[in-house]
Amino acid sequence: RREENRRTAGEDCRMADGTRIEVFANLGRVSDAPGAVAEGAEGCGLLRTEFLFLERQSAPSEDEQYRQYQQIADALAGRPLVIRTLDVGGDKPLPYLPLPKEENPVLGLRGVRVGLREPELLRAQIRAILRVKPTGACRIMVPMIASPSELRAVRRMVDEERGKLGLAEPIELGAMIEVPAAALIADRISAVADFLSIGTNDLTQYVLAMDRGNPHVAAQLDALHPGVLRLIHLAVMGAETYGRTVAVCGGSASDPMAAPLLIGLGVTELSATPAVIADLKAFIRTLRMEDCRRVAEAALGTDSADEVRRLVAETWPAI
Ligand code: PEP
Ligand code: MG
Repeated sequence: RREENRRTAGEDCRMADGTRIEVFANLGRVSDAPGAVAEGAEGCGLLRTEFLFLERQSAPSEDEQYRQYQQIADALAGRPLVIRTLDVGGDKPLPYLPLPKEENPVLGLRGVRVGLREPELLRAQIRAILRVKPTGACRIMVPMIASPSELRAVRRMVDEERGKLGLAEPIELGAMIEVPAAALIADRISAVADFLSIGTNDLTQYVLAMDRGNPHVAAQLDALHPGVLRLIHLAVMGAETYGRTVAVCGGSASDPMAAPLLIGLGVTELSATPAVIADLKAFIRTLRMEDCRRVAEAALGTDSADEVRRLVAETWPAI
């Protein structure tokens, strides 16, 4: 089965009723890209750029970043590359970036909050991304957005750097939806963002008030909790206000049980861990949108993630 799935992996992913779903890969370093393409990735929906910044004594230069991003773009050979701006702070401290000691770092300076506090760090990264050829290969995605003003501030930086580089073409700028407030006001965020991408790892952590790294709550930390699904539903409806596409790039996108629900809620792009992509595409090809919508709607009315998983297992016993 797996070999069969790998043989067809390179083809576009269409559901049984013809609906197109894009399946992208989450990448964490240059060497991940060729394998992801072999598994059938149609692009990269989340490049975690932390790999360039962590475990070193000084920040990577703009040139160094540019070379790495260009290599990944080359490996993807024209497929879209969504580069997430630096998501450090919280559980990922940097030795060369002194941030104040925080009582609750996961509720403190991380993601875009660090980028706006250290604008030169963010600007260098934006310039490195803008230099990648061909122009249009990359999209920029911003982590931990809570309010439109944060994305507006990043867009100003992007436009200024584009001006300095003499680039006429705009670059797509998206917001990660991983702070509950952002899901609740996704319509307002969509006024500023070109696309949304839901980070279910952090969204689940913040909605359930359960630390994603804490083994004592790991068993209850399930992204299929109906509270998380309702927020995803709101995010998709908000995005529709401005016709924005909604992707999922958190762990749910790699969970076959989540796929029919996310698709049923209106998500059109899943960015998954490379190893599962061939099998995920094969499974999505068996799904019909009307079934996904029906089960997703039922899932919104349940009491627990366990109940949601039972619903999915009843409908698609082969998962
Ligand atoms: C997420 O939070 O779901 C996400 C994709 O980002 P990370 O796991 O890198 O925090
Ligand atoms: Mg996250």
